Amino acid sequence: MSIEVTWLGHSTVVLDIDGVRIVADPLLQRHAGILRRRGDTPERAAWHGADAVLLSHLHHDHAELGSLRLLDQVPVVTAPENAVWVNRKGLRGVGLREDEWLSVGDGEVQVRLTRAVHDARPMPHRPNAAVGHLVRGPSGVVWLAGDTELFDDMEDLPLMAGPIDLALVPIGGWGPRLSPGHMGPEEAAVACRRIKARCAIPVHWRTLHVPAGRVWPRGWMEAGGPDFLSALAREAPSCAARVLDVGQSFTVPEPVS
Ligand SMILES: [Zn+2]
Ligand SMILES: [Zn+2]
Repeated sequence: MSIEVTWLGHSTVVLDIDGVRIVADPLLQRHAGILRRRGDTPERAAWHGADAVLLSHLHHDHAELGSLRLLDQVPVVTAPENAVWVNRKGLRGVGLREDEWLSVGDGEVQVRLTRAVHDARPMPHRPNAAVGHLVRGPSGVVWLAGDTELFDDMEDLPLMAGPIDLALVPIGGWGPRLSPGHMGPEEAAVACRRIKARCAIPVHWRTLHVPAGRVWPRGWMEAGGPDFLSALAREAPSCAARVLDVGQSFTVPEPVS
């Protein structure tokens, strides 16, 4: 029994927890709308065989229909209004109530929605609900923040599921400046302190850019990870963080008792 996370770029993670495979915000192809991926597309073996998909919201850097269709009609767990949209696309949307837990796989692993505050860029043709997810299993608890800014009752997340062993927190975007409704490295570190995360992996950075991104200041794509590590050393020194390369995995260590 263990928790292993593999980062496939941007917000796409594969969570292998207690024999269940969960894929979050899958971007599995070369492009997402106008956004371009830097580096190789993820290998099929890295995400194949998912038991469920977690969808934080329907912005194009998270909800990409071509990628969702690669995932074999597994439940797509999201906010109810987003689930309606997913179903309309011929996929299997599962909308959860605010405090509802859904069993995935054989029932030992469960998922629920969490709050996310991310309403700065509403879309005309897609619902705009935004959520995060908590996943709990015998090996521990994982929080996938989704796209969010810091919010007031973030401290209460461990009350919903128990101590958080791993936090997947967004630290960037797809340009050198962050728009409202996002966390940068500093805010992500504050989030880890506030939820008392034992380990953290930064996501939502280093992957996507608009076609014109080449003209942006050199190095903007790489800055987030080191900035997050130094912010975390100040804000939450007991939180163990790892900056992953695309395709790289991290296994959550056993807690020291
Ligand atoms: Zn978004
Ligand atoms: Zn995003």
